[in-house]
Amino acid sequence: MNMNRMPTLFLSHGSPMHALDPGGAGKAWRAIAAALPKPRAVLIASAHWETTSPTLGGRERLETIHDFGGFPAELYMMRYDATGSPEVAQRAAKLIRGAGITAAIDPSRGIDHGAWVPLKWMYPQKDVPVVQLSVQTSLGTAHHLRLGEALAPLADEGVLVIGSGHVTHNLQDWFRHHNDAQPLAYVVEFSRWLEKELAQDDREALLDYRERAPGATRAHPTEEHFLPLFVALGAAGPGARAALVHHAIDGAALSMDAYRFD
Ligand code: ZN
Repeated sequence: MNMNRMPTLFLSHGSPMHALDPGGAGKAWRAIAAALPKPRAVLIASAHWETTSPTLGGRERLETIHDFGGFPAELYMMRYDATGSPEVAQRAAKLIRGAGITAAIDPSRGIDHGAWVPLKWMYPQKDVPVVQLSVQTSLGTAHHLRLGEALAPLADEGVLVIGSGHVTHNLQDWFRHHNDAQPLAYVVEFSRWLEKELAQDDREALLDYRERAPGATRAHPTEEHFLPLFVALGAAGPGARAALVHHAIDGAALSMDAYRFD
């Protein structure tokens, strides 16, 4: 085992408002990054970049994408123009192709809020190059686990692999219930189920979460916010230990849980 191997992370990125006010999640992201050696680069699979086949952002300098509507003007002024790493993008594409999966480089892609909101708190100096990876929502959990497994060598090369999505993500429930005093029962149950299955590293159960987890289809009416978890899990390698490193529920409906895989 390489002692210098980077862990991988799954982060629930929350509302874009976390960029203005870190809240508990922002503080947790800062602490998670502070507990790690500084990575050579971050490779982050974001729920907010969906494509039909895996695509890596290959720009030298990343333009901040404000891919949300109806928020205060201040948020649209905020930028996180990180440096890219065409070299890490090429390396990742090669690893993915080596696993028999098609991969492409997008030379113009910027950085979306699924990536820059947590990274703003993790690496406020923008001194870690960032490469984004897209998700393929129609291809499901097993594809994303394989994608992560293909990327596992990056952790030995000083690259921090992050999946950025949500442990639960039903925005309709959030609109209806965000002032409720208590979290919705299925949100608590789904979050607990996930914690238990990750602790046991039961990948078969995890891959089949839509059938097995309580409240799964309500927690994820669409899968794009859950699939980045499988990239992080796969990239951690076989037998990875999962640790719940942040636990919270925002607005009764959005589980903000974060995991570290060693
Ligand atoms: Zn999101």
